[in-house]
Amino acid sequence: METSHQKIEPVIKNQAPLLFLILFFLIQATVFTVFTVPFSWELFWVAVGSYFLRMFGITAAYHRYFSHASFKTSRVFQFILAWIGSMAMQKGVLWWAAHHRNHHKYSDTEKDIHSPSRKGFWYSHMFWFLRNEYNDYEAKLIPDFYKYPELRWLDRNHWIAPLSFAVGLYLVGGWGYLVYGYAVATFLLGHATWTINSLSHVYGSARFESRDTSKNNFFLALLTMGEGWHNNHHYYCSSVNQGFYWYEVDLSYYILKALSFVGIVWDLKKPPVKVLEEGRRRDLEKKAKAANKTVKEKIPARRTVVTSH
Ligand SMILES: [Zn+2]
Ligand SMILES: [Zn+2]
Repeated sequence: METSHQKIEPVIKNQAPLLFLILFFLIQATVFTVFTVPFSWELFWVAVGSYFLRMFGITAAYHRYFSHASFKTSRVFQFILAWIGSMAMQKGVLWWAAHHRNHHKYSDTEKDIHSPSRKGFWYSHMFWFLRNEYNDYEAKLIPDFYKYPELRWLDRNHWIAPLSFAVGLYLVGGWGYLVYGYAVATFLLGHATWTINSLSHVYGSARFESRDTSKNNFFLALLTMGEGWHNNHHYYCSSVNQGFYWYEVDLSYYILKALSFVGIVWDLKKPPVKVLEEGRRRDLEKKAKAANKTVKEKIPARRTVVTSH
């Protein structure tokens, strides 16, 4: 049972969930403004840029840095990372990371905040964070970043970054930029990110025995800049790269690696050799099993042909 001293001052203290709910669906509905602007390749690339910039903010910053501390950086770049992540409009950085740490702690148990096997697909995808009880988070889950006042400020005012991004887009390119670069891209970005809580725990293959339903999924990894290697991630979550082998595409990791070459980030944590070898062994076993099965299936078929003559 929780004692009061373990709980921090709630950040969004049980604030009108109905208002949040209405706002959330209104913002989702803005995707339909796409019909007010004729398509152009320029707008298409604005949407793509906005999507991937902010996906990086979620995967490299909110997830790999703030939730799992899988690399190090300066205090200034830490704030920039938090700002880019906030631009994705997925609530505050400390809120996000604290809840995500809980997800790993209780994966697919009753206490998991978004388990599709326990609570259903749509709940794990997006309805969980629309609930009043998840407005708050506990500072004790994230003391390593809660100690920075600038992060607490950004977390409390998490609407500032997305709003300034939207205004910036409008000032640069008018209504078309706002629609494609913000409304459309934010809608797609949100749903793509949430597939990691929903689809990544349902579809794909499980290389490691991670004691939960996490899966590796190539398609989701492309869409989410490497987050689709979710089974790898659940098995060894402090690794900066979620694609463990060269053939597991992980765009966020490539960018972080490039940033490490110029000294912007450092101490990138990698999976130990033991884990990589175990993964290879499991892949080989799986292949051998599949080949065995094919041989067994073929043998009776040949015998049938022989006996029929
Ligand atoms: Zn997960
Ligand atoms: Zn994680």
